[in-house]
Amino acid sequence: MLTNTDRRARVLVVSLGGTIASTTAQSAHGVVPQLTAQDLVDSVPGLHEVADIETLSFRQVPSGDITLDDVVALSRLIRDRLKDGVDGVVVTQGTDTIEETSFTLDVLLDGPSPIVVTGAMRNPTQASPDGPGNVLAAVKVAASPDARGLGCVVVMNDLVHAARFVRKTHTSSLATFQSPSCGPLGWVKEERVRVVLRPNHLARISLDLLKDVPRVALITCAIGDDGRTLRTLAASGYRGTVIEGFGAGHVPGVMAPDVENLVAQMPVVLCSRTGAGEVLDNTYGFVGSETDLLSRGVISGGSLDARKSRVALTVALAASVHREHAIEQFVHVRDSVV
Ligand code: ASP
Repeated sequence: MLTNTDRRARVLVVSLGGTIASTTAQSAHGVVPQLTAQDLVDSVPGLHEVADIETLSFRQVPSGDITLDDVVALSRLIRDRLKDGVDGVVVTQGTDTIEETSFTLDVLLDGPSPIVVTGAMRNPTQASPDGPGNVLAAVKVAASPDARGLGCVVVMNDLVHAARFVRKTHTSSLATFQSPSCGPLGWVKEERVRVVLRPNHLARISLDLLKDVPRVALITCAIGDDGRTLRTLAASGYRGTVIEGFGAGHVPGVMAPDVENLVAQMPVVLCSRTGAGEVLDNTYGFVGSETDLLSRGVISGGSLDARKSRVALTVALAASVHREHAIEQFVHVRDSVV
């Protein structure tokens, strides 16, 4: 594909491991990540007709082993390669944590260049592995002038999803990636990338401000919870908490005082465990409702789900010297999402 200046696009493919890179090894029972970025690129027929490809193997891990420190380091690397003239970047990794890695890249990387994350649900030893097709589609998006300005996107199964909304919704289906709140931004059709929705510009948090990445807890509410986990968090070293509440943003009434005590110790963000929609602000009035929790100093996650909120709060804390600044940065990102 051609860039705005009518030369072939330069696309960097960075690999981190995951199913897409996993094959059988003598030492293990199942498949394990082993293929390099160059191996992945070599497995895709016709890829070099789309763009000039450069490769880099950055990690070789199941995606549950990727840390936010890794993603910060990856963001710095991508920023440098974009400055060197790369037009777009494809990150290949395990699908288990794509929801979080893609949103971290979205928050940290400013500028219009396409940043595309992809993976595979079927490994290369299975019938019909989806990795090569996903890499091809991802490179088409990374090379496309139409994909500029979308922020970080996830391309799987020929669909283009905004990192801020995408969720993994199924353990094994090829159609596992969905954006339940708004649908995909577009799709890949033959050689064309169709972008039919454009997200708002996301308020970024500067990579230059980042210091150590702190621990932020994610607590999902379940029926009958009494809040005892919340009492352990500060002593365990957490510097922030995201509560994934029921429905519109609720917790059992008995938990509400513990939430308030936690707010005195660290920023606490309220999200919904439903998987779509926004946390409400002022509909319900019972103890443990969204209105009650907000009045106790909890911060609304808005339309960010708990995993995306945890990313945003972690990065905001890593970029801030004091609590109020961190909350300001979190809210800035949250409010730019929709
Ligand atoms: N099942 C995962 C994948 O799709 C494994 C991982 O996330 O690394 O790649």
